Amino acid sequence: MHDQTTTVTELMQLVDDFVAQRQWEPFHDPKNLSTSIAIEAAELMEHFQWLRTDQLDAVQEDAKKMAQVREEVADIAAYLLSFASTMEIDLSSALADKMKKNAVKYPKEEYRGRFG
Ligand SMILES: [Mg+2]
Repeated sequence: MHDQTTTVTELMQLVDDFVAQRQWEPFHDPKNLSTSIAIEAAELMEHFQWLRTDQLDAVQEDAKKMAQVREEVADIAAYLLSFASTMEIDLSSALADKMKKNAVKYPKEEYRGRFG
């Protein structure tokens, strides 16, 4: 599977099948899944904790660290997809709608090169 050839539906199905094969649906409620997203995000942040700004690029050059970062990104994605599936949220339209809202909140002419 690769981003260029995989749909969100296929990713969601991959996660849903994993959950169904283990009969974990009762545990995949919104509380557990939203908590799990935050926990996995914290695990991702752990890889950058205490690094100075000038050390951040080194993570990408370290194959072992990148493999660990890649796994945490996958954990976050799996829980996010499961959350969206459980809550019947269409991820693509939710993201597109929020980006439109963000574009209104942060007009490119005003925020180019700055975030505050
Ligand atoms: Mg993890």
